[in-house]
Amino acid sequence: MADFKIALIKGDGIGPEIVDGAVTVLDAVAKKYGHNFNYTEVDMGGCAIDKFGTPLPQETVDICKASDSVLLGAVGGPKWDNCKERPEKGLLGIRKALGLYSNLRPSILKKQLKDASPLKDEKLANGLDVMVVRELTGGIYFGERHTAEDGSWASDEEKYSVEEVKRIGKIAFETAMLRNKRVVSVDKANVLDSSKLWRKTMTELAKDYPEVTLTHMYVDNAAMQLAINPAQFDVIVTSNIFGDILSDLSSAIAGSIGMLPSASLGATKCGMYEPIHGSAPDIAGMDIANPIATIVSAAMMLEMSFGLSAEAKAINDAVDKVLDMGYRTTDIYSDGMKKIGCKEMAALIAENI
Ligand code: NAD
Repeated sequence: MADFKIALIKGDGIGPEIVDGAVTVLDAVAKKYGHNFNYTEVDMGGCAIDKFGTPLPQETVDICKASDSVLLGAVGGPKWDNCKERPEKGLLGIRKALGLYSNLRPSILKKQLKDASPLKDEKLANGLDVMVVRELTGGIYFGERHTAEDGSWASDEEKYSVEEVKRIGKIAFETAMLRNKRVVSVDKANVLDSSKLWRKTMTELAKDYPEVTLTHMYVDNAAMQLAINPAQFDVIVTSNIFGDILSDLSSAIAGSIGMLPSASLGATKCGMYEPIHGSAPDIAGMDIANPIATIVSAAMMLEMSFGLSAEAKAINDAVDKVLDMGYRTTDIYSDGMKKIGCKEMAALIAENI
């Protein structure tokens, strides 16, 4: 039996519905395994702008910092598109405040949802289970920017220190140790100095993980390989910008946006867990959102931040069972299946824990 403090950021749009769904499932886990999950709801995004005039109130930062982890729905929506500070600024702010320098995105294509992938069946014959580990707080998105006064040129700087590469590399190697022990480090070392440093540092670091096989791949080839033979990958580790692109590609291959989780981690066990999709304002409040991405994000939280692997497995098994029984939310529905809403999907998964 263990006690954990979880900060809940429900956010905007479908955020409250999907986080409520995840809490229903977490409550079932707590009951079965005798844990206490203590939730504190905090505001971030558009709802925080409405209440406090800022997307990230200090109280939210303080409560998240004092928690064992954060579970986030999604933020944003057309209502706040023209605000001076947009809701998404809250996301960057909380990542920074919690020192979350890595983003882990597993892309798993479930056998029950094979039809949802844009790839042909033969490309998926060996399944798909890729973990993209993306550096989140360095590189070109955080480098110096310049635009010439006359607007005739602009530049953005891609810069990485050895320390920054090492710390994201460690996350990748440690993740691989829990999986199939293969890391592909993706760079553009045939052109960029920052990539040469990236490659050299990863090669050095690999000596600390003799059980893990490290290979290197140029980013253009990695994109092609993901599309033609995704089963060859176990863990991919890469920079902020390359990870941004490759993680979207690997998610698209896995089919529905409503199924995929993510974790952002830093130097401590406190992480932030969220679905990869946004706040889906077009379906908010209609009880048709798919809560599974948020529910499996909660499973990642149990495993990665709380060390509760059996409990995380129980959630993933329950999701599989409910899909095997033919239940589907609208986004993953196909003929002959049983269409259900967000609440019912969460309740069924909770029942099957
Ligand atoms: P989106 O992911 O919200 O929606 C894209 C499409 O997928 C929509 O048709 C939506 O209905 C559908 N969809 C998304 N999640 C779903 C789910 N769980 N179940 C069923 N269908 C689902 O992307 P968007 O429309 O580009 O963005 C909407 C808002 O979300 C914007 O304000 C954007 O800035 C914000 N956003 C937030 C985050 C975040 O909080 N991390 C991430 C991406 C986008």
